[in-house]
Amino acid sequence: MKAAVVNDFSQPLEIVERDIPEPADGQVLIQIEACGLCHTDIHAAHGDWPVKPNPPFIPGHEGVGTIVKLGPGVTVRALGDRVAIPWLGHACGHCQYCIDGWETLCEAQQNSGYSVDGAFAEYAVADASYVVPVPDEVSSFDAAPLTCAGVTTYKAIKVAEVQPSERVAVFGIGGLGHLAVQYAHLVGAEVIAVDIQPDKLELARELGADHVVDATQTDPVKAIADLGGADVAVALAVTPQAFEQAFASLRRGGRLVCVALPPELAGPMRLPIFETVLKGIRVIGSIVGTREDLAQVFRLHALGRTRVVAEPRKLDDVNSAIAEVLQGQTSARLVFAF
Ligand code: NAD
Ligand code: ZN
Ligand code: ZN
Repeated sequence: MKAAVVNDFSQPLEIVERDIPEPADGQVLIQIEACGLCHTDIHAAHGDWPVKPNPPFIPGHEGVGTIVKLGPGVTVRALGDRVAIPWLGHACGHCQYCIDGWETLCEAQQNSGYSVDGAFAEYAVADASYVVPVPDEVSSFDAAPLTCAGVTTYKAIKVAEVQPSERVAVFGIGGLGHLAVQYAHLVGAEVIAVDIQPDKLELARELGADHVVDATQTDPVKAIADLGGADVAVALAVTPQAFEQAFASLRRGGRLVCVALPPELAGPMRLPIFETVLKGIRVIGSIVGTREDLAQVFRLHALGRTRVVAEPRKLDDVNSAIAEVLQGQTSARLVFAF
């Protein structure tokens, strides 16, 4: 099978031929039809974060395809099922977090395309219990970005407990942000989109943003203050500066939801203690979502409530696709179509 492999954090990915993997106990083999390129895959390939993956590895955690082989003991899924392989590739299933609806916090978790091989390949093996069925109404091409960008921003809006008519500022209208705008809109918020590229802001308008702010032209903190301040600010841009602006744009009682994961080298986010205390601000870290969150994301899409803005690319072009994302050349989620 063809696969894109990270051999070294300082080198481009390599397209190689590998044997199709055998599903072990409890695993399934999936023939991949589509896999989105999340900015997390770029962080993985560059070794950006304090906890690094071990090369060689295959990135990709927005994989969608059909089950073509069952490993020993698999009863929860069947041959021919169409499923998604999310970031949460495996959790223990019995720790405090797993049994309390917080499997995404399991300390024994494995992450697809990071601690175990992911879906930048024609085939991938995955834990049968952690793949998520894709409804017939949702194409594999649309399901791919929903598998990380969708579930992550859906969860971010959930944990922020956004109420109808609250003002939600979304910082960063990339793969995640274009869906965050829609989930915030769906729960009845007044939505402010902030980015540094006009095409992304135009897209945000089409997807339901009530206000847009080009942070290269206008100070977003002042622009949002002029609107009355944000009740919730969702930080999706890959720079600590945007987190600090997101914080500063909050009104009293506001919630900052931290989602993006800038490289360790970019340095820390600095928050003023005085404003945090006096304004009663909550700072929330949010990591992907559970299998049930993803099922809900798929149901919303099947109902026609969300729109995935994506463009196909060939896996052979994985390195130019990464460059496109880093240089902001596209306002669509890029999806490797097989
Ligand atoms: P992306 O590159 O598609 O989007 C980033 C967007 O931020 C772009 O539109 C860019 O123009 C914009 N931007 C850059 N600088 C900005 C600034 N100063 N102000 C406002 N906007 C700015 O990336 P993505 O795939 O959407 O991922 C975003 C981040 O989220 C990455 O760090 C990724 O690793 C992380 N992530 C986190 C989780 C989680 O569970 N917490 C899940 C998936 C991705
Ligand atoms: Zn667990
Ligand atoms: Zn992701």
